[in-house]
Amino acid sequence: MTSPTGLVFNVQSYSVHDGPGIRIEFFMKGCPLACEWCSNPEGISPRPEPGSYPSKCMGIADCGTCLKACKQGALLFTPEGTLGAVDREACIGCLACTEACFTGALTAWGTAYTVEEALELIRRDRAFFERTGGGVTISGGEALLQPDFVLAVFEQCQAEGINTCLESCLHVRQEVLEPFFEVTDLFIADIKHRDPAIHKARCGVSNERILANISYLARRNACLVLRTPILKGFNATDEAMQAIGDFILDELDNRVLQYQLLPYRQLGTEKYASLDRAYPMAGFEGYERAEWEPDIRRFLKLLQARGINAVSGNNTKF
Ligand code: SF4
Ligand code: SF4
Repeated sequence: MTSPTGLVFNVQSYSVHDGPGIRIEFFMKGCPLACEWCSNPEGISPRPEPGSYPSKCMGIADCGTCLKACKQGALLFTPEGTLGAVDREACIGCLACTEACFTGALTAWGTAYTVEEALELIRRDRAFFERTGGGVTISGGEALLQPDFVLAVFEQCQAEGINTCLESCLHVRQEVLEPFFEVTDLFIADIKHRDPAIHKARCGVSNERILANISYLARRNACLVLRTPILKGFNATDEAMQAIGDFILDELDNRVLQYQLLPYRQLGTEKYASLDRAYPMAGFEGYERAEWEPDIRRFLKLLQARGINAVSGNNTKF
């Protein structure tokens, strides 16, 4: 049987936000959700894509190697002869232009890793894991859109005593989760909103499957951390937070290691531009610290008073 490969859009060493200790984190390409506030738009498409950063382009007169590399005629240049954009209709995602461009004006979003290549990177950080209780986290995009690769990496990590954490949106068929119970030390998932219609309107899909999978993880006694990105005009109300609190208590029997509240921050706008996409939150009036800090403090009080281990931020020890 051939070993699976995984399409990854970022690998981050020394990560301290998604699981205990110092971790290496793999961000898998492809996501079934379309959250308006997504800060990783390069992780949404399941295919490789070039990102364009025109300000780094030297111009056709001095360079132009990408033009020769692209057989689809998908690169668009300005009248001055510098990179303008990528014609996304014509582009087939071969990434030949990104290999040709040495200035970073064209960047590859999506690199294929074999399981062994991923393990080599993981093993290099082993000393940090041992010192800090860290390990590997596989996130996305959506990690479970490429379950064979993630499973193969986790199986080998477990065999080598390396801690594993799966961060997933959980919008997947329940049976996809099954083999992960054996090889996953920690699951991290979001509850963005309790109301299915509101969730669908802002995230592109209903939350029913997600909530059912979270309940399933709790019933199976999985180690589970839940998160909510707090966003004004979406879920930054006492009612929305209490509804999530009800779910944690009634449906999960409070079997959650930690419930993390994360304020929305406007990140990733330049990456939308690199993909020739409009930033969906461009018209958002903002949610400044002076506003979100007291909001989160109040939500924490409400939830903690009900016995939920709610915390602010995603690098709190547990
Ligand atoms: S990824 Fe391939 S098809 Fe797309 S612009 Fe680059 S070279 Fe052309
Ligand atoms: S290879 Fe890069 S620097 Fe050279 S012309 Fe193309 S985009 Fe510009």
